[in-house]
Parts: sequence; C-alpha cells; structure tokens
Amino acid sequence: MSILSLVATLIMLIVAGAYVTEVTEAASVRARAQTAADSAALAAAAEAAPYGDSSPYSAALRFARLNDGELTDCICHPGALAVQVEVTVGGVTASARAVIDPTRFMPAAPGDLDPRLQAAVDELLAAGGGRIWLGSGYRTPERQVELWEDALARYGDPELADDWVARPGTSMHERGLAVDLGGDAEHAWNLVHELGLPLVRPMSWEPWHFELTPSMGGMNR
Ligand SMILES: [Zn+2]
Repeated sequence: MSILSLVATLIMLIVAGAYVTEVTEAASVRARAQTAADSAALAAAAEAAPYGDSSPYSAALRFARLNDGELTDCICHPGALAVQVEVTVGGVTASARAVIDPTRFMPAAPGDLDPRLQAAVDELLAAGGGRIWLGSGYRTPERQVELWEDALARYGDPELADDWVARPGTSMHERGLAVDLGGDAEHAWNLVHELGLPLVRPMSWEPWHFELTPSMGGMNR
C-alpha cells in the first residue's frame, strides 16, 4: 500500500521507469504492479480533484493499462478527497491510495462575499452533504495579483495565464461576486436547479466557478 501525495507521486512516476530495469525478475513484477497502481491512483485523484474532469475511474483504467496492468478495483468517486485502486500486473496485485489536499488546488480566502451570493452558497453547501465545499470566495486585489503571477510563472505566457486566472482588477472574486467550489461540481450544479438558487456557471471551462445570475448582479461573462 502506498500513501501518496499528488506532488510527491509526480516526481516518483518520472523516476520509476529507470528503477524497474535494475531489479530482479520477481521484484520487477512487484515493482511494475506498484508503479501501475501508483500511477492509476494518481491519475484518478487528479480527475476526482476539484479541477479534474470528474472521471476518476476511466483515468485509473487508462493509466493501469498504460503500465500493462489491469485495474481490478477502484474506489474513486468524483469530488472525493481520496482514491484507492488495485492493479494486477503479471499475476501480482498492488494497491495504492492517493490523497487530495484541496488547499493545494484552491487557496481559501476569508473575506466578504456579496450577501446574496453568501446566502445562496450557504444553502448549497448545506444541501451538499459534505460533497461540496467552498474553495475560494472573496479575494483581495493583492491575492488576485499573486494568483495571476503564479499562473504566469506556471504557463509562461500572459494569454495562457489569463485562461486560468482573471487579470488583477477584472475578477468577480475581487468584488465578492464569485465563488470557486471544491468537490463534486456536477452535484452542485444539479442542486442549484433543484433548489432554484440564483447561481450560474458562466465559464464552461471552469465548472467550479459560480456567480450570481445576471439579474442578481452577476456579470454572466
Ligand atoms: Zn473562480
């Protein structure tokens, strides 16, 4: 059983290929099974995480196969904070567990949300049964600058950075008019309809980002 953090595992996956060739045959099969399980767990965790595509099972399946393994078990629910997989390679079964730390994806920012947005989000979280949480709400202008500069450093191009983080001064978060929810974004969206909450998801590529409907003061851009 491996307990993995996303960051540590990414580094481990890169070195695993070189390691496997140097061990004996029996140990090699075990190592390959563990590598396959680790990578499947990591891939599933990335998909289950708030910014993932919410298809952790198919990600685990794909990465198990890429490592010549068969996925024999996957406890991997969209929006869950941990995934656990079992992968079999050459008759040897290995399991791995990857744990997601949501604060690494979305820094929580205390502050003042628009009271109408706050009320709608409170109702949504209460109905979410622990499957949805507030990742990021109000942001100070300073925080928005930090986030954008992080994105610029990561993507190396202002236009790419703009795709992921609004330019300082233009974010609805800075005005207390947007929240990023963690967890199961599709479940949240279904609840918005069920409860008739005045929320929209204006950007299809950011399914976790919710704003008030335009009639309530959202920009719906
Ligand atoms: Zn957002």
